[in-house]
Amino acid sequence: DLIGKRDPEQKQFKTTVSKVLETVVPVLEKHPEYKEQKILERMVEPERVVSFRVPWQDDKGVTHINRGFRVQMNSAVGPYKGGLRFHPSVNLDILKFLAFEQVYKNALTGLPIGGAKGGSDFDPHGKSDNEVMHFCQSFMTELYRHIGPHVDVPAGDIGVGGREIGYLFGQYKRICNAYDAAVLTGKRVDYWGSLARPEATGYGLMYFVKNMLDDKNISLKDKTLVVSGAGNVATYAIEKAQEYGAKVVTCSDSDGYIYDPNGIDLDAVKEIKQVRRGRIKEYVAAHPQAEYHEGCTGVWTVKCDVALPCATQGEIDIESAKALVANGVIAVGEGANMPSSLEAIEYFQQNKVLFAPAKAANAGGVAVSALEMSQNSERLQWTFAEVDNKLKDIMANIYRCAKANAEKYADPDDLVAGANITAFVKVADIMLAHGLV
Ligand code: NDP
Repeated sequence: DLIGKRDPEQKQFKTTVSKVLETVVPVLEKHPEYKEQKILERMVEPERVVSFRVPWQDDKGVTHINRGFRVQMNSAVGPYKGGLRFHPSVNLDILKFLAFEQVYKNALTGLPIGGAKGGSDFDPHGKSDNEVMHFCQSFMTELYRHIGPHVDVPAGDIGVGGREIGYLFGQYKRICNAYDAAVLTGKRVDYWGSLARPEATGYGLMYFVKNMLDDKNISLKDKTLVVSGAGNVATYAIEKAQEYGAKVVTCSDSDGYIYDPNGIDLDAVKEIKQVRRGRIKEYVAAHPQAEYHEGCTGVWTVKCDVALPCATQGEIDIESAKALVANGVIAVGEGANMPSSLEAIEYFQQNKVLFAPAKAANAGGVAVSALEMSQNSERLQWTFAEVDNKLKDIMANIYRCAKANAEKYADPDDLVAGANITAFVKVADIMLAHGLV
């Protein structure tokens, strides 16, 4: 009702928010001050939404007009922080639900960052470098007014990688005549980016999963893992899992998946995906013992102890969840954002599968982005080991807090509720301290 009356058309936002808020009901019952001070009503209303025109010209001189957005959801914990997404599907409904989720994820890191999300319906696919640069420059020519190292610090997301961050930062620096490196994160290491950022989400996922399994005296050593994806998150999750002595038998791209009974040869995957920018099916040519299967959902029918969806939203539906449970899966750790359907999550929980929700388990990426801001403020660059050690502590702390709140308010193994409650209480208490703003 909080959203339905004002914005009935924003269905995704409404669905996400209701699911999150359902899990915090036990806290509201214990803390009437949250209700009295209308914390929920304030949390679902962005502090600011900016929508703007982005005009740009393609290589043929044809003019295009896209729409740009920045949803500044909540700055109780620190400056707004969240990615920019360039994709034709971008609209206000999607960005509001992503921004809402970001507030909670960022709060979980324990670092001083609020939550935001932004982007444009621009599609970078098939555009030349020159066109992407012109688009980024036009986008930043408006966005620069609304961001800043103490105000709002965007990062990349779908369609916004190192190239786009470079063009956006170049334009910001030019307009403001200031080398405010901490205004954007995900920068290349040679111009104030952080070491260990590419590894952060995948490593962080494994740190979280290891904490969750250690708590049950289960070792990752010699466990069989099924991983989906072969991009940034999947690659570094596989790397860390192998370091822990686990055997990862699959990975995938949007065409299909590979199964290697001997364990994935990660150097070969990196060579195919990062160096040659090829397709995962090329793996089998040099690995005759491995199999390639067209289509992605079949990956969840492979027998495993731990499943790590690291490819994309909505990749585990109820059928995939049933297949995993039937094959005896012990734990599921979400590397991608919202890879499991709500039905799938419920099914895992009913069947006592340890479940590490994305908001907590993949927060390592944004945590290291916040560490990039710290390094920029200090004008220093930390070593890989320094960043990685901090990441390890942050993920352990997220696990500890989520588990403690699950034990206090919900089912002791319900880390979905535990993570939501941890973040909610942190943000709500600071909002109370700041008064009615
Ligand atoms: P990448 O683009 O690097 O990799 C995505 C991988 O998933 C690619 O191998 C891609 O294959 C594959 N993929 C895409 N769509 C599908 C599909 N429908 N079925 C199966 N595989 C598919 O992305 P990231 O690794 O960075 O991100 C993965 C997920 O993690 C996303 O949900 C992202 O939002 C989330 N995430 C990422 C963070 C980060 O730091 N990178 C932080 C937090 C969350 P192909 O090569 O064919 O495109």
